[in-house]
Amino acid sequence: MKDDQLLRYSRHILLPQLDIEGQQAIMSAHVMIIGLGGLGSPVALYLAAAGVGEFTLVDDDSVELTNLQRQIAHNTHTLDLSKVESAKTSMLAMNPEVTVHCHPVRADNEWLCQHLNGVTLMVDCSDNADIRYAMNDAALAKNIPWVSGAAVGFAGQVAVFDPREENSPCYRCLYPALSDDVLSCAESGVLSPVVGVIGSLQSTEALRLITKFGEKQHGCLHTWDALAGDWRRWKLSQREVCMCCENID
Ligand SMILES: [Zn+2]
Repeated sequence: MKDDQLLRYSRHILLPQLDIEGQQAIMSAHVMIIGLGGLGSPVALYLAAAGVGEFTLVDDDSVELTNLQRQIAHNTHTLDLSKVESAKTSMLAMNPEVTVHCHPVRADNEWLCQHLNGVTLMVDCSDNADIRYAMNDAALAKNIPWVSGAAVGFAGQVAVFDPREENSPCYRCLYPALSDDVLSCAESGVLSPVVGVIGSLQSTEALRLITKFGEKQHGCLHTWDALAGDWRRWKLSQREVCMCCENID
């Protein structure tokens, strides 16, 4: 590691759970972020700051004024720019050492499977169920972990899925079927820092998967309600009738 890298990442290296090896694992990681909105912004910025070496950013939206109340990877100067290019600019300003690949597309299962070679993990920062099911199925097909996140109103949740772990539940175990009539932020609003809290937790779980610090969290669902000020952790288990997990063996 170069001298300026030892300085930049010194507060990571000081952590005995990370040390130099942990930081090198972070720098060797390739993270795919699906969605560069409210959740994707803190995920992209924290993971770039942390030194993740390579990113694939996926989002077909452009920056709009209504985004700027919470999507902190974008700003007034990047209005109308694609969100992936806008986020890339912010990430490189934070840390010019990272490599960022931009894909202004709407991902589906086929696209994901074509682009997941060499990817360490995916982070779900999308706002719709179709993409989450596509990510779930691609993660199972490619045997890579992913961190799901959602936030709306005053509440949010994070779940970690890792098909490499034995008997690990998948997203379809948690939600066998979910229609898109679940409320989105565009329809019901969201308190600005709620996406920051959930995105920061997703970043933490991504770094845990990369460096293996602390207790494994795969198969856990964390929920947060800002109105009640309440965090909860739920242990998920594999659903016997899950169409995905039945196929694993
Ligand atoms: Zn399952």
